[in-house]
Amino acid sequence: MGMFMFLCEECYDSKPRIISKRSKENLAVCSNLTARHPFDDNKCLVHVVRSANVRYSKVRPLHPLCQFDVCRHEVRYGCQREDSCSFAHSVIELKCWVLQQDTGITHEEIVQESKRHWHRLEQNVQRPKPMHVPPLNNMGGGGDGAAAAEEEEEEEKSGA
Ligand SMILES: [Zn+2]
Ligand SMILES: [Zn+2]
Repeated sequence: MGMFMFLCEECYDSKPRIISKRSKENLAVCSNLTARHPFDDNKCLVHVVRSANVRYSKVRPLHPLCQFDVCRHEVRYGCQREDSCSFAHSVIELKCWVLQQDTGITHEEIVQESKRHWHRLEQNVQRPKPMHVPPLNNMGGGGDGAAAAEEEEEEEKSGA
């Protein structure tokens, strides 16, 4: 069970991967203060699973060349074609493509829907006591795993 969010794709694709969201101070750029990529031009949909550690998987938008199957290379040893591969690189990406194909949902709507879903879950978990408790003004917030340095061990040999 994970959630969807937008991250800066320039940062995400850099090696090592940088997880940067929309900057809170300046909504036009990513939160990587040394790079400051224009966020809306670079954002990509990412599915995040928080368990023992945090796993991110990018979801590329559906396009006419998409193959509705998971890439065999990616599941074994990583796909060399990366984003240019037309096969899904995760089950979640495949699911999103199917959903987009069937319903025409946009990535924006997927993120919104995911947020709503988690909001509902949180409300169910912290069931308020039936007493007169002053409402807490805790808007937003939540664990901000900003510099989550989570990498798949990539053993790259650049034989130049
Ligand atoms: Zn960035
Ligand atoms: Zn592939």
